[in-house]
Amino acid sequence: MARDTADVVIIGGGIIGMSIAHQIARRSNLKVIVLEKGVGLGEGSTGGSSAITRQRYSKLESIRVARDGNLIWRNWAEYTGLSEPVGTFHDIGVLWMMHDSIQGVEADKDRLVAEGIDAVMVDAADLKNLYPGVSACMVPFDLTGEIEHECADGDAFLIERDTGFFDATGALLDVATAARAGGVDVRMRAEVVDVSVVGGRVTGVTLADGSSIDAPMIVNAAGPWCNRISAMAGLETPWELVPTRIQVLYRALPAEVPRPVPVTCDAPGGVYFRPEAGDGQIILGSLLEEDELELADPDRYNQTADRAFIDTKIHALHHRLPDLPYVGVPGGMASLYTVNRQDVLPIVGPTTIDGFAVVNGFSGHGFKESQVIASMMAQWITDERADLDTDVPMEFFSIDRDPIDIAEHTVLA
Ligand SMILES: Cc1cc2nc3c(=O)[nH]c(=O)nc-3n(C[C@H](O)[C@H](O)[C@H](O)COP(=O)(O)OP(=O)(O)OC[C@H]3O[C@@H](n4cnc5c(N)ncnc54)[C@H](O)[C@@H]3O)c2cc1C
Repeated sequence: MARDTADVVIIGGGIIGMSIAHQIARRSNLKVIVLEKGVGLGEGSTGGSSAITRQRYSKLESIRVARDGNLIWRNWAEYTGLSEPVGTFHDIGVLWMMHDSIQGVEADKDRLVAEGIDAVMVDAADLKNLYPGVSACMVPFDLTGEIEHECADGDAFLIERDTGFFDATGALLDVATAARAGGVDVRMRAEVVDVSVVGGRVTGVTLADGSSIDAPMIVNAAGPWCNRISAMAGLETPWELVPTRIQVLYRALPAEVPRPVPVTCDAPGGVYFRPEAGDGQIILGSLLEEDELELADPDRYNQTADRAFIDTKIHALHHRLPDLPYVGVPGGMASLYTVNRQDVLPIVGPTTIDGFAVVNGFSGHGFKESQVIASMMAQWITDERADLDTDVPMEFFSIDRDPIDIAEHTVLA
C-alpha cells in the first residue's frame, strides 16, 4: 500500500483544520497534508454554522480572540490573498438584549471598548431609531403561550457595531483555496482509521483505504469526531468533549419587516437570530443549554429540526420582530458541535503524546475563533509570525489547564 510522508498531518478539513493548514502555509514551506473523510468540504460543524462573529464574552482572552478574529474577517481578501474570495463579511452589528441593569450594560460596553471594540450602549428610543423592526421589550416571554404577555421596553442595550456574521462555507472554501495555493495537499474521502504512536511519540496515520502517511506532527481537528482520533492515539484526557445536536430554524423575512435587522441575542426569548445573506430569510438558534442534546455517536442523529423546537422558538422571533407575518411554514435543521462540558472553551495545543496536538471542543464559538486559534497553532508549529497574528497565548486553552471559571456554561460563555 502507498506510503507517504509529511511534516504535519491535519485530521479534519473543517474551518479549524483548514485554517491551521493555511496559517502554516502563510509562514513556512512545511509539507502539510489535510485529511478529510467527507466527499465535500463542510460536512461537519462548519457546514451548519451560523458563523456569528460577536466579541462579547465573559473572559478577556475570549474577547481578544474574537476581536483579533474580527480584524481578519474585515480584511478577508488581503488575509487570504484571494482577489475574489467567495466568503463575505456582513458587519451589520450585533444587538445584545440581556437582563442587565443600565450599570451592567455600561460596564460590559466599557470592557469591550477598552479592548478596541466599537461597542455602544443605547436606550429603547435609540434602539427603535436604529432598528425600527425590532421590539425593545425585555419582559420574559413564555414560548408556550400559556402565560399572558405584556410588552414593556427595557432600559439599556448593547450594540457591537463593527461585527456581524460571515458565511461559513464561503470562508471554508476560501481558506481551502488559499491553503492549496500555499502548497497544502488537501485530500478528500481520506478517513483516518489509526494514529501510530511509538515510544510516546506519533509516527503517522493510516487511512481507511489502507494507505499511510508518516509524520512527526499530527493535529486532531476532527470536530465532533475528535474523541475517536484521540482514542486512536491512546490519549488520556480529563476533558469531556461531547458531540452535541443543535437545531436552527429558518423563516422568510419579507419586505414588511423594517430593515435593518441586526444579529440579535434575545435573552427574554432565549434565542439568537440573524438575517441570512441576501436578507430574505432569518436563521434562529437557541441560547439555552436545555436545547443542546448530547450524543453518544456523532454519526447517528436526526438532522431535521424537531417540530416542537420550531413551534415554540418561532414565537420568540415573532415577539422580537412584531411586523413579521405569521404566514408560511418555518423550516429547520439540526447539526453538531462539540461541547467541552467542563468550561465550554476549546482545548488547544500539545498533549502528553509527543507530536500529537488537539484543537477540539469549540462549542458554539469555533467559527469566529478559527483564524486566531489557527494563528496560535501555526506560531507554535513553525516558530514564525505573520501579519494579523494574535498575541493571546495558546496556553490559555492548553489541555493541562484547570477548567476556567466562566460566567455562563452556555453558548454565550
Ligand atoms: C448550528 C450551529 C451554529 C453555530 N453557530 C456558530 C456561530 O454563530 N459562531 C461561531 O463562532 N461558531 C458557531 N458554531 C460552531 C462552529 O461552527 C464550530 O465550532 C466549528 O465549525 C468547528 O469547526 P471544526 O473544524 O472543529 O469542526 P468540523 O467542521 O466538524 O470539521 C471536522 C472535520 O473533521 C472530519 N473528520 C472527522 N473524523 C475524521 C477522520 N477520522 N478522518 C478524516 N476526517 C475526519 C469531519 O468530516 C469534519 O469535516 C455553530 C455550530 C453549529 C452546529
